Amino acid sequence: MTMQSAAPRSKRILMVGAPGAGKGTQANAIAKQFGITHIASGDLLRKHIADGTTIGKTVEDIVNKGELVPDAVIMDMLRKPVMAASETGGYVLDGFPRTVEQAEAAYRTAGSLGVGVQIAVHLDVPEEELIRRMLERARGADDTEDVIRHRIKVYEEKTRPLLEYYSSRELLIQVNGARPVSEVTWSIVVQLQRALKRPNTHTSGTAHKNQATADKAVA
Ligand code: AMP
Repeated sequence: MTMQSAAPRSKRILMVGAPGAGKGTQANAIAKQFGITHIASGDLLRKHIADGTTIGKTVEDIVNKGELVPDAVIMDMLRKPVMAASETGGYVLDGFPRTVEQAEAAYRTAGSLGVGVQIAVHLDVPEEELIRRMLERARGADDTEDVIRHRIKVYEEKTRPLLEYYSSRELLIQVNGARPVSEVTWSIVVQLQRALKRPNTHTSGTAHKNQATADKAVA
């Protein structure tokens, strides 16, 4: 069953997690389940780099070092796909926002569009497991051990504060991501379905003080 008929307004689901936490895999599964679009900022950047576009040339060194790309580049790159997805049911964003500043910018844009429910999903995975997974997948020049450790440090400093931001403003779902893929997916879907049923998760730019229950109920 999909949730589209239950919530007529577009859904905005945001994946928050360290590199290697499984955001891409889970975002893909969520997109299929809810009939929404999966948008991955890292995938889009890697495609720009592979295609040698202007954006690609601007960001290549930054991405390869595991640093964050400037907000303006990210916002420009995401604007069109995000707007298009908002008109066709919504999206699950994987890799954005990465900082509280990006979240605030996205919130202003979404608020002015009057789009619906926003829920952040935190995939929690211990550091050693993150490193093991990323070395195993070794996707690109930013997947060497030094860069991986640096990316995790960047996550801790710049992205982790987002969890507090979302739990105090809108809705944050906590998921233990250190389990088999299908169990994690199930846990996310169950919690999202529950959250999407709540009338007060439908926002149009107004802050909410909701926090979904932790994972225990479905673990
Ligand atoms: P990811 O595949 O999401 O781990 O992203 C790979 C790399 O792309 C990151 O290490 C950053 O260099 C860059 N990147 C992806 N998303 C963002 C973002 N929202 N803001 C800044 N940099 C990003």
